[in-house]
Amino acid sequence: MSTAKPSDQPHDWQNTSSLPSHPEPYKIKMVEPIHLPDRAERELILQEAGLNVFNVPADRVFIDLLTDSGTGAMSEHQWASLMEGDESYAGSTSFHRLKASVQEIMGFEYMLPTHQGRAAENVLHSVLVHDGDIIPGNSHFDTTKAHIEFRHAHAVDCTVDECFVPDVEIPFKGNVDLDKLREVVDQTGVEKIPFVLITVTNNSGGGQPVSLQNVRDVHAFCQERGLRLVIDAARFAENAWFIQQREPGQGDRTVREIAKEMFSYADAATMSAKKDAIVNMGGLLCMRSEELYTQCSSFNILFEGYLTYGGLSGRDMEALATGLYEGTEEDYLAARIGQVKRFGDSLTEAGIPIVRPPGGHAIYVDAKSFLPHLDQEQFPAQALVCELYLEGGIRGVEIGTVLADRDPDTGKNRPPKLELMRMTIPRRVYTDNHLQYVRDVLVTLRDRRESIRGLKFTYEPPILRHFRARFEWE
Ligand SMILES: *Cc1c(COP(=O)(O)O)cnc(C)c1O
Repeated sequence: MSTAKPSDQPHDWQNTSSLPSHPEPYKIKMVEPIHLPDRAERELILQEAGLNVFNVPADRVFIDLLTDSGTGAMSEHQWASLMEGDESYAGSTSFHRLKASVQEIMGFEYMLPTHQGRAAENVLHSVLVHDGDIIPGNSHFDTTKAHIEFRHAHAVDCTVDECFVPDVEIPFKGNVDLDKLREVVDQTGVEKIPFVLITVTNNSGGGQPVSLQNVRDVHAFCQERGLRLVIDAARFAENAWFIQQREPGQGDRTVREIAKEMFSYADAATMSAKKDAIVNMGGLLCMRSEELYTQCSSFNILFEGYLTYGGLSGRDMEALATGLYEGTEEDYLAARIGQVKRFGDSLTEAGIPIVRPPGGHAIYVDAKSFLPHLDQEQFPAQALVCELYLEGGIRGVEIGTVLADRDPDTGKNRPPKLELMRMTIPRRVYTDNHLQYVRDVLVTLRDRRESIRGLKFTYEPPILRHFRARFEWE
């Protein structure tokens, strides 16, 4: 295992003084009641759901940590933006406003709106990815991997080894390992590699950030080999904030300056705007070259919609444009990432094994060490997700063997190195009190962990199986 260079580790990278008590830079104007069903009801609901919380009706969930995707609370400015949406089919004013905000915040000349991040992937991959191609990167997101494999191409994970050791604390656990990348490129040959992909933050790897130096290094390597670099930008603002807090020499720059430099190294970016742009629906495909834009345009029209709305209403584009600014505000980012850190640290203090250090958007419980009596083929993380719902009406999500799916070539399960239960924190939605309740429920589960049983499939869908699978207890 390679260790981080000393220059990557300023002494105080974990003591970000602005963090622990940075209060939210907003107050609550509207509330949404939530309700905890009683234990007997929760048991019935989970059985009916086939032990898969994707099948649980949302109003039967007390605290919903399934995802931070599209679940954020929009601000009064975003709601006001909706009223200014221009629903013209061609040349919408809202499109031009969105385009200007993308240029200002992300620095890309060309942009196509899409209905979600995966739609941007679909359009880009339709142009660039072909049968037998290899796409190296740092832990590709599940929809990204599915789009690659759907085209009979392969995603190769070149994340640094430290990412797969839950308790190793280094500042940039999401980084690409340049040696691994070089090896893949040497073995494959550049003609089979349509692009190298960097995902910021590294979602599947625990919401861990990628350093600016790492993006620079990958870019330099891509330049040397004549390869394109694409950024999956779902959480670019959180990543830029970590760079500002942790990377030597970056502390005096603004998050927006850092984000712009990060993007300056990319030929294209796909973005799920449901994350750092804090909208409930939306995506972006951004490009630097007119040629790539022209090629992508045909597919955007085919799959999404005309160039100036893609998959979105004018009002959605307005809220997205506003959200790009709000999502990159530093007091907001300090409060958000601070909340996730406080939650994670409180679990560590209570002896719950989590991926350290806490990432930007979620806390990941290490299910292998939480449930050491279960084998990975018994889906320990999925079992833990079920118990979290039964015990406290809380919805988490499995990031483990179920999600990793079967190998398309061998048909075998491919248990990942980390077997995790993710608890994702929606933006601007829950208070620290909610998260303390989640901690208390986890402590109860830990104290009765021997009673937690493994699972097996009763129905296994052929593609993206985690969404629709059904299970029973062994
Ligand atoms: C959410 C996400 C996507 C896919 O975006 P959708 O909007 O859900 O389609 C892609 N990559 C990453 C890193 C994500 O977090």
